[in-house]
Amino acid sequence: MTPPRRKRPQPIATRLVVILLLAVAVGVIGWRAGYVPSVWAKTADAPELSGAAVPALPGGPAGAPRSTRAEAPASAQQPAGTTTKPSGPTSAVSGTGTGVAVPVAQLADTRALVLVNADHGVTTHPGTASLVSAWPKVPVINSGVRLSPATLRAVTSLFAAASQAGVGGFYVSSGYRTFAAQQRLYDAAAEKSHVQPPSHSEHETGLAVDIMAVGVAQADLGGSPQGRWLADQAWKYGLILRYPAGKQGVTGIAAEPWHFRYVGTPHASYCHQHGLTLEEYIAALQRTGGYTVTLGTTTYDVRYEHASGGALRVPAGLDHTVSSDNTGGYIVTSWK
Ligand SMILES: [Zn+2]
Repeated sequence: MTPPRRKRPQPIATRLVVILLLAVAVGVIGWRAGYVPSVWAKTADAPELSGAAVPALPGGPAGAPRSTRAEAPASAQQPAGTTTKPSGPTSAVSGTGTGVAVPVAQLADTRALVLVNADHGVTTHPGTASLVSAWPKVPVINSGVRLSPATLRAVTSLFAAASQAGVGGFYVSSGYRTFAAQQRLYDAAAEKSHVQPPSHSEHETGLAVDIMAVGVAQADLGGSPQGRWLADQAWKYGLILRYPAGKQGVTGIAAEPWHFRYVGTPHASYCHQHGLTLEEYIAALQRTGGYTVTLGTTTYDVRYEHASGGALRVPAGLDHTVSSDNTGGYIVTSWK
């Protein structure tokens, strides 16, 4: 029952309107794509925004045409230019009317700041499609090593900086692990001070990376020039030394000079400068509500928020990312 189609030329005015509407639609789509902070696009856990289509970037910050805004922080990491001022929970961002409420179900949750430890298990495994192969971007222990795109970008930049600094030989010895892989590792470990039970390892998020140096035994890494360089420099690339010495009482894990966790800028900077583990950082955010920090030419506002009525307030008109923290709250990071 197909009605006969009449084919007649459209009036010029109709064609112009159609062309105009198409142009507007393309513009809106482009604006939307451009508006999405690329930190989302770089995060394994936001496949709906990034997908596997976002390639790992070889050259670090400068290599990412779409990442200009999100990488600006990474390229502006001179410790000397860093100032921190607590600004309390009552900033304009956190609910005084300049924000916009987004339903939690529609949040582009990067999950870059999820806390995973003995008390907080992995609730969302990244989909395979959202992970990328570390090889050949960086040296790896085997070609099966996968990481979140953001983590790989950070490690790639870190290794490039190491080479430039004359500190070489780094390779990735472990990245993403499935539940089953973590189970095997846990079962096989006679001594469990360095291994979490399945569902409780950061390696199951794709955000954790174990870094080793050729010719340096794992037990010797912390005292080696390579290990010291990593501990000093990794934060500049959004990575934190996740299990520092002396913090086993907080993290539950003995010192691991090789285990780094991607959290992004400015969070890694803050943790490094204040000597905080991720547990302590999230607790500090919960306690203070957040902070403002200027790194280079970029000023960040970090807020700890809770959803209300099924929605979360996010800054209107500002580049921002949102990450759940796996303890019930959200960390909203905006910058300008
Ligand atoms: Zn590890």
